Amino acid sequence: MNLDELLLQLRQRRLILISEQEIWPSPCYTRELARAVRRHRQGLQVLMKWASIEVCASRDNHRQYWRYTGGQCYTCTMCQRLLSEVS
Ligand SMILES: [Zn+2]
Repeated sequence: MNLDELLLQLRQRRLILISEQEIWPSPCYTRELARAVRRHRQGLQVLMKWASIEVCASRDNHRQYWRYTGGQCYTCTMCQRLLSEVS
């Protein structure tokens, strides 16, 4: 499973990435997903640091906070704010 496939799986299963190592709700995710998360930890970490919409915690509710940052990248300013508050 590559990183894009993993992100798609997370979206389809409505799983939320809490950190590059933790997913919520955890009982819903399979061993295969857990392995993919471990394997792509660094990639996920980068996406989370940028608050990329790829890892947006709530795509339906946050869509209005998405901002284009150039280079075909979109940032979720709401996730960005939430992340800066918890870290
Ligand atoms: Zn978001």
